[in-house]
Amino acid sequence: MAGSGTAHLRGEKALLSVEDLVVEYPGGPSGAVVQAVSKVSFDVLPGETLGIVGESGCGKSTTGRAVLRLDRLTSGRIGFAGEPIEEADERHMRALRRQMQMIFQDPVASLNPRRTVKDLVVEGLAVAKVPADERAAASATVLAQVGLDGERFADMLPRQLSGGQAQRVAIARALAVGPRLLICDEPVSALDVSVQAQILNLIEDMKATYDLTVVFIAHDLGVVRSVSDNVLVMYLGKVCEYGDAVRVYDRPAHPYTRALLDSVPLTDPDKGFAGPALEGDVPSPLAPPSGCRFRTRCPLAKDRCAEEEPEVREVRPGQFAACHLA
Ligand code: ADP
Ligand code: MG
Repeated sequence: MAGSGTAHLRGEKALLSVEDLVVEYPGGPSGAVVQAVSKVSFDVLPGETLGIVGESGCGKSTTGRAVLRLDRLTSGRIGFAGEPIEEADERHMRALRRQMQMIFQDPVASLNPRRTVKDLVVEGLAVAKVPADERAAASATVLAQVGLDGERFADMLPRQLSGGQAQRVAIARALAVGPRLLICDEPVSALDVSVQAQILNLIEDMKATYDLTVVFIAHDLGVVRSVSDNVLVMYLGKVCEYGDAVRVYDRPAHPYTRALLDSVPLTDPDKGFAGPALEGDVPSPLAPPSGCRFRTRCPLAKDRCAEEEPEVREVRPGQFAACHLA
């Protein structure tokens, strides 16, 4: 089946398994749909971190939101802890979302501006009708865990916080409900470089403390490098490359991954593809190119790339790519 590469999925052991996910948004002229996510498959084993990377608009956030069923799926399957959830009703999803929490690029926007920090971090527990004294204790605990001094921050409002402090509150809020999966959607992209490393370290620490499985979305390959076990590279709604992060970074198999990784033309053929830096704009997801979607920007494209869509296939052990030439 063209474009459906699920051979890399590791089956029942996964905490999260996404298979052939398609999300299309209406809204294009004359009935065209935005093909935001097109047959994306990946899985994440318990305790793993999957990095999802690609340029703006390639479908990363849509993929994260689809896992939590925040948008309508066009088709595909989502498994969480062995349970198919793509058709779970909203009531069941509300219960499941305590186990699957999400943090975002703009932490202040994700926090209710009129609530104090101490209440914000246990909002999820209030919804679950946890008694006030238990909530207060939990609030103090998670604030301490994310490195915020309760005395100083408890009664502050989101607008009084720096970006890094607000992201700590958002992380505390996600952790307070005891999730198993944390989806981080560009959690450091809006922060100063000096603060980025602190928040990345905090996510790593919390991953260990809470035994979390993590999906870490970023447009920058550099950011996910240090935290990812596996990495998924997306382009225009499609998977380009997927696999063990060390292998993908050391020896990228897809010309797009290589282009993202370095802007320097490559001369060592053993290391993968030679090619110039990434140039040009991403085509519209309303009318993606035929065949391989990356071909219009690919320095290596052949006739075949326009005619035939490349399937995701194993190019080296533990490394998968959708490229005719890989
Ligand atoms: P990323 O997070 O990788 O930047 P997104 O998942 O936000 O990408 O978006 C993927 C594509 O879907 C983009 O072309 C975007 O414009 C489009 N898109 C996202 N959300 C909507 C929506 N609610 N309605 C219509 N198009 C959308
Ligand atoms: Mg996004």
